[in-house]
Amino acid sequence: MYKKYGGYLRKSRADLDLEANGILDTLKRHKDILLKTAEAMNITIDEWYEEVVSGETIEARPEIQKMLRKVEQGYFEAIFVVDIDRLARGDTADQSRISKCFSFSSTKIITPTKIYDPNNDSDEEYFEFGLFMSRREYKTINKRLNRGRIASVNEGKFVGSTPPYGYTKEKLKGQKGFKLIPLQEEANIVKLIFQEACNGIGTQTIANNLNKLGVKPRKNNTWSYSTIISIIQNPTYYGMIKWNHRKTEKTMVDGIVYKSRPKHTDYILVKGLHEPIITQDTFNKANKLRTQKCGKSIRKDNKIQNPLMGLVKCQVCGRTMQRRNYRSGYIDGLVCPKPGCETCGSHLYLVENKIIEALKNILEDYNIIVEDYNISNNNEENSNNNTADIITKQINKLNLQLEKAYDLLEQEIYDNETFIERSKILKEKISSLELEKEKIDIHTTETKIEKVKNIIPNIQNVIKNYNNSLSPEDKNKLLTGIIDNIQYSKFKKGIGNEDNFSLKIKIKLS
Ligand SMILES: [Zn+2]
Repeated sequence: MYKKYGGYLRKSRADLDLEANGILDTLKRHKDILLKTAEAMNITIDEWYEEVVSGETIEARPEIQKMLRKVEQGYFEAIFVVDIDRLARGDTADQSRISKCFSFSSTKIITPTKIYDPNNDSDEEYFEFGLFMSRREYKTINKRLNRGRIASVNEGKFVGSTPPYGYTKEKLKGQKGFKLIPLQEEANIVKLIFQEACNGIGTQTIANNLNKLGVKPRKNNTWSYSTIISIIQNPTYYGMIKWNHRKTEKTMVDGIVYKSRPKHTDYILVKGLHEPIITQDTFNKANKLRTQKCGKSIRKDNKIQNPLMGLVKCQVCGRTMQRRNYRSGYIDGLVCPKPGCETCGSHLYLVENKIIEALKNILEDYNIIVEDYNISNNNEENSNNNTADIITKQINKLNLQLEKAYDLLEQEIYDNETFIERSKILKEKISSLELEKEKIDIHTTETKIEKVKNIIPNIQNVIKNYNNSLSPEDKNKLLTGIIDNIQYSKFKKGIGNEDNFSLKIKIKLS
């Protein structure tokens, strides 16, 4: 009896994404590939099964159901599919059903790269335990484990791999599983964290306080507000065990797969076998205060929040450093916005302090420069100054000529060509003179001294008036009035390095 050949087409999730982005019809492309594969083998595909929707389970894939019924009956010699994944994806039960279908009926699976033949022993092995079945096996094991875990959780045992900060785990005597045991030193820190949280201290400040104490968390060198939050929210500390259900549970009843999706808030919370570190009252109080604080700190106005806005540049990548505010904490940071940039951020207030300190030094230097200059005034500078004057006059003259050229064009005395040529010469002369003037300016101490003299009272003003009672906006106005930009660099972070950054301040001297 002549057996037929079938082709199965199904879109994967990735294909759907591609199609959404305007990449051509995947099913058609796959069909072309399979047709070419078949042609090369001198085979004609007799029947096509095209899944219009991409369902996870067999039940959600009507075409594969039709096809499998025929596969079971031994109707096909082989099924063409672009990748074995297209058949195998889905639930454990689905996978074993598909696998059985093909092996019992000795139906081959042909992909453009490989032929899977259930009659061939080594192939079947590949088929059974290779990429097809490894996934199934993994899922089965995972499911079994989960069932076991849930039972353990309900008995108050600890089923995670790493105990939370403050605890270690110990094998239970005479029965399976582990229970948590408080670690005295860490437990004391946990108590302290909850105590501070109950006193209304923000999570960032709590983290800072611990860092100052030199206490270290388990994995990192310093505490962060997010670590503190996860501790405050963890019910383990008042003696509970919490376990999240799997997101989707699939069960099979009479060969039909049912999916259930428990709510996100659905989790097991039971009394643990372990000793609590804090009371439930403390836990509730700390969490209540924290959520209140979060609500308050959300800002809705668009006022400037960063006194250093637009001023500080990262010396490594050149990006403008930005303020980072931590909703839960108090201290704002200043960070380079470029992902992966090696520049470390700092507390914003520390950068502000250092700027003002630097301005004081600059002011001192400027005063000395002016004093020195007054003492040793020399003639060379004056002659330079005269040259600059002469050049300025020349530039003015050329500018007048250029204006005249426009007039002549308007009066149609110049035609277009003459005007373009004439103005081109004038513009070139002007720009070369401007260049020359610039060079002299740089070397002319007097011009420089004038600029320095002019900025000194402004710097004094900033130093005198910059304080924390000003709004960030006013602070920003003061600084941008005298500072062109600030180059920031810092390469070490952590305790002891809070202040370990350097600033190069460029004053507006114009
Ligand atoms: Zn950077």
